[in-house]
Amino acid sequence: MTEKDLVIIGAGPAGLTAAIYAGRARMNVLVIERLAPGGQVLTTEKIENYPGFPDGVSGYELSSLMAKQAEKFGMELINASVLDIKVADDGKKILKTDDGEIIARAVIFATGANPRKLGVEGEKEFAGKGVSYCATCDGAFFRDKEVYVIGGGDSAVEEGLFLTRLAKKVHLVHRRDELRAAMLIQERARANPKMEFIWNTILLRIEGDKIVERVALKNVRTGAVETLPADGVFIYVGLTPNSALLEGVVELDENGFVITDETTGSSVPGIFAAGDVRRKTLRQVINAAADGAIAATAARNYLDEL
Ligand code: NAP
Repeated sequence: MTEKDLVIIGAGPAGLTAAIYAGRARMNVLVIERLAPGGQVLTTEKIENYPGFPDGVSGYELSSLMAKQAEKFGMELINASVLDIKVADDGKKILKTDDGEIIARAVIFATGANPRKLGVEGEKEFAGKGVSYCATCDGAFFRDKEVYVIGGGDSAVEEGLFLTRLAKKVHLVHRRDELRAAMLIQERARANPKMEFIWNTILLRIEGDKIVERVALKNVRTGAVETLPADGVFIYVGLTPNSALLEGVVELDENGFVITDETTGSSVPGIFAAGDVRRKTLRQVINAAADGAIAATAARNYLDEL
């Protein structure tokens, strides 16, 4: 059985930054990641608001650089899935993974979040058959096609803009008449002739035979429903935190985000949460990385006090 001072779960910007800080503090630390280092940011084509990159940087490049920096400070990373976490009477955290049991004195959850499902008819049935949650991953399948993007936040508008490079037309369907996305990308989207906005409208249904062929939309003001031809539907209606493991272990908010204090500490001493999995008002790479730095420092202070 492996025993570590600190285990970091997740190797996105929060987890990798925590690994950089923990490595530099010479802590006995292990990072557990299910897939490749990078997390959600890997699905972002270009990041324009991370300081230090005036021309923007691809999500892939930024996460590779972060991983390289963590490796430089001795990051030990294993590919495994954490299946369960228990807090023993002595405060140690027992992590059951598909690669054996690991005991940690402190744990940082940097497990991130995934795109939220809308729950409409046809969404599950046509997932991977025209329904997607990642334009960077699947956009190429929609060259010269009619695509619908659902949502009005940063993800919907940014990914919609990305799709205009490939698709014939991008119809952005938003339930209100005002976008939530940052003004700069709103301006770009409004100026893009391939982008059409469908306001005050929700997606009712996705229809087709074997693949997506139509969408049924409902205007929430007039109640009118229309069915339109569609080849693809990209859904960006927010995030679901990857916090299922922590249910019943630490305090979560009504949407499943981990409630933490200013130092990223959860309701259980020695369990910290950093990045998108944490309840917060802004979810960006910059503050995911900041959370990682704070969490590693708080974990070190916690271990020092033990
Ligand atoms: P978000 O900001 O929560 O926006 C979700 C959008 O989906 C909102 O416009 C919301 O409408 C709409 N929506 C939610 N539930 C819906 C439903 N049931 N039916 C129809 N529409 C629904 O989510 P996000 O865009 O995925 O972004 C997540 C976080 O990542 C945010 O903090 C965002 O700022 C950040 N992010 C940042 C960048 C960047 O800075 N470059 C890029 C991507 C994401 P309402 O507006 O009416 O609530």
